[in-house]
Amino acid sequence: MSDPRDDAARRAALVAVVRRLDARGLNRGSTGNASVRDASGQGMWITPTGMGAEVEPDDLAWLSLDGATARGRWQPSSEAPFHLAAYRARPDRGALLHTHSPHATALACLQRELPPFHYMVAVAGADRVPLVPYHLFGTEALSQGVAAALAGSDAALLAHHGLVAIGATIGRAEHVLDEIEALCGIYLQALAVAEPPLLTPAQMAEVHARFRGYGRAQRA
Ligand SMILES: [Zn+2]
Repeated sequence: MSDPRDDAARRAALVAVVRRLDARGLNRGSTGNASVRDASGQGMWITPTGMGAEVEPDDLAWLSLDGATARGRWQPSSEAPFHLAAYRARPDRGALLHTHSPHATALACLQRELPPFHYMVAVAGADRVPLVPYHLFGTEALSQGVAAALAGSDAALLAHHGLVAIGATIGRAEHVLDEIEALCGIYLQALAVAEPPLLTPAQMAEVHARFRGYGRAQRA
């Protein structure tokens, strides 16, 4: 861990997001989990198993990226393997959030992906939010499925399970998770009436281009 102060800030930000998700009903009890890369890039801080919004920064468990070394008072989340797999697949991403949030989970229980029915689906960086086939939590098969889905998207639905979102920062991961959860709710409402028509690849390409331009304008 190269800079203890930087690590402390990352851990505090992670805990703040976990509490916010709980307060907003996007996570319940200890069902979800969350992680950030450490400042050295050699490992990650992750919420411990069996702990929810009561988590404190000192409760977070540390795991090396290969999963071989663990530190901390508590056992890391049982879903730590797919966090590690996601970081190995996406060196450009520094945080992962996983929830059993109601709308995304309802859609995942129908074994449906989130298609480009609304332009904001592009917030996750692709034309659709893919569905990872069902595998038991904590398994290598689930880790491989999550890593493959997140290689091309910043969010994925896990069949009969929930939602994952990643970001360069924990704030960005929270933004993606929040948007995708809301869009899943809108999609379910639309599905109750009819199968909604979809935007074309060309229309989605325009949205991606506009989002990239918007990002540049914000930094100027
Ligand atoms: Zn889960």
